[in-house]
Amino acid sequence: MISRMVKFISCGLLIFICLQPGPVAGQSVLDPKLAQAIDLEIEKNRAEMIKIRRFLHMNPELGNRELETAKLIASKLSSLGLEVKTGVAGTGVVGLLRGTLPGPTVAIRADMDALPIQELNTFPYRSLNPGVMHACGHDGHVAMLLGAAALLKEKEGELPGRVSLIFQPAEEGDGGAQEMIDEGAIDGASMIFAGHIDRLYELGEIVVQPGLISAYTDEFSILIRGPGGHGAKPQETSDCIVAAGQLITSIQGIVARETHPCSPAVITVGSIHGGTAANVIASKVVLAGTIRTTSPETRAACRDSLKRMTQAMEQLHRVTTAFTFVEGYPPVINDPAAARIAAEVAAHIVGQDKVKGQPLPSLGGEDFSFFLQKIPGCLVRFGAKHTTLHDAPAHSPRFDFDEGVLATGARFLAQAALCALARLGEQRARAHATM
Ligand SMILES: [Zn+2]
Ligand SMILES: [Zn+2]
Repeated sequence: MISRMVKFISCGLLIFICLQPGPVAGQSVLDPKLAQAIDLEIEKNRAEMIKIRRFLHMNPELGNRELETAKLIASKLSSLGLEVKTGVAGTGVVGLLRGTLPGPTVAIRADMDALPIQELNTFPYRSLNPGVMHACGHDGHVAMLLGAAALLKEKEGELPGRVSLIFQPAEEGDGGAQEMIDEGAIDGASMIFAGHIDRLYELGEIVVQPGLISAYTDEFSILIRGPGGHGAKPQETSDCIVAAGQLITSIQGIVARETHPCSPAVITVGSIHGGTAANVIASKVVLAGTIRTTSPETRAACRDSLKRMTQAMEQLHRVTTAFTFVEGYPPVINDPAAARIAAEVAAHIVGQDKVKGQPLPSLGGEDFSFFLQKIPGCLVRFGAKHTTLHDAPAHSPRFDFDEGVLATGARFLAQAALCALARLGEQRARAHATM
């Protein structure tokens, strides 16, 4: 066991730097030489990452249809000399770096899909695919992870373990993460990291928060039916539109009056379809919406209340109803130990004052949560706001971000993987030593 420890410690400064007990204010936890090497390397990759991002931005593909995106990723990984597995969960790609030293496996992940939005930007690299746009920054995520692959490849000989690079399809609604897991993408991995571009934060800021940072993203639909009839003769029928109107108003009372006030919840009715003419009482109305919560109890309370209120319309308005609940993504819950690694790495890259917390969870969703249900990890946010960009949020047709974020993201992902390998290796060595 001693010899194993000696071998472990002698494998380089790389490990040493990450074995330091927690960060001391103002003191870097990373090896300055390694950090400098990566910083120099990133300079070589900066232009290439922008090129990749712009190519993907011009050629966006919807979830589970990222065929050309996957081809580009596979060819870039192959040309770097990585082992590449394609066709994982359809269009997913996994690249593998095997260090020459034994050790754990750490995964880093990017999502690949675009959104069904017609881009309104006019810059030369705007989408060439009508009605499809990278409006969430996933083009940037792919470029960053390819950048991280190049950085890590340079250090492959020093890796105390393996790094798995996961390019995942269909984050925007279809839950590609779960399918990647089902097809073995994180088998053998002990920790996972990812980052999301975020224009709410300044370029050069990284947001790291342990614990819960996003919400359950469940959806519902409600069908209301009646016989229909003449708009002038309500006494002969039941009115689905009146029932729907009252139901929408009643739903507002669930969050206000029925759930715990300290447990966040949002119920949004996002669409309503019913009726065909001004003088016809509709025979059918369909409502659809989303329920965002952060605790299983509040989630169940919202679902049950919605169902109860829907059914109550039957008595009130002499209609029939059907309530459908569709489970969405679970919340992202960052592991505290992984978040500590992320915070240390972020502080090294952007400086302690640029590492931000996220004290209140977002009620948005992220299917990275499926990975975190299997192994510990951390999702961070990379600030990408810039004063020269117009004000356009994610998922809007004029969304864009400062491409300076690509280098920040690539450095973070590469360094997080290196640091996690060292930390996990040290834990294993300690566990063996005490056996
Ligand atoms: Zn999105
Ligand atoms: Zn996204």
